[in-house]
Amino acid sequence: MYDKFNRKINYLRVSVTDRCNLRCVYCMPPEGIDLVKHKEVLRFNEIEETVKFAVDNGIDKIRITGGEPLIRKGIVNLVEIIAKIKGIKDLAMTTNAIFLEKFAKPLAEAGLHRVNISLDSIDENKYREITQGGDINLVFKGIEAAKKEGLTPVKINCVIKKSANEPDAKAVKEYCDKNGLSVRYIHEMNLGTGEFEIVEGGTGGNCKICNRLRITATGDILPCLFSDEKFNIRKMGIKQAFKLALENKPENGCFAKNNKFYNIGG
Ligand code: SF4
Repeated sequence: MYDKFNRKINYLRVSVTDRCNLRCVYCMPPEGIDLVKHKEVLRFNEIEETVKFAVDNGIDKIRITGGEPLIRKGIVNLVEIIAKIKGIKDLAMTTNAIFLEKFAKPLAEAGLHRVNISLDSIDENKYREITQGGDINLVFKGIEAAKKEGLTPVKINCVIKKSANEPDAKAVKEYCDKNGLSVRYIHEMNLGTGEFEIVEGGTGGNCKICNRLRITATGDILPCLFSDEKFNIRKMGIKQAFKLALENKPENGCFAKNNKFYNIGG
């Protein structure tokens, strides 16, 4: 599919939950969040139907996100369902890897191709501080399990404030070089003010070549991360929601007052 700026849209980011087991300071407000009610969260068959429609219409890259996707009940079964959809060339997941040691093998067997893992520091205390309680040793075990099960290339998403020369960012790079991983630096973004930069080592944030749409766990198709436009598949049907999302995809991201990272999956 193409948008009105003739950008080829072949990438759908599928958020399967707004919930997370961590509280990263730049994502989750310390006071917690108003969790989406269970009945508002898309069922597996709705996600399957939506992804099928998307793939039939030109999407060939799917990324499963959250919140934290590994806390969605039955996530391995959902990956299996999506992996069976003909036409997907790249099926990836973004995870904080806290539970990945346990899930790597069943996810690989279910058909997941690869993972991106969030890691902003390799310092145990700093990591616990950033995630408000996360255990970095579980992440390291998750990374090893992903490599062992062939969920590769394993890419590390490292959030930075200003530059890749920050001490934590440099240490993450060193760790990645030593362990055969590639790092992508994601500048801290502000949805409300529209502050964002192109992902270093990736294509996110490069509006000129933007190829993506997003679907939230409650079925909103979002044309752009930095826009408040959304089109709900339950309210208007999958076909109409995608049609309107494509028609309303902005040339450039602006700002989004209503979007939250934890329920969009970045
Ligand atoms: S800000 Fe919007 S248009 Fe720009 S790259 Fe992100 S999603 Fe695409």
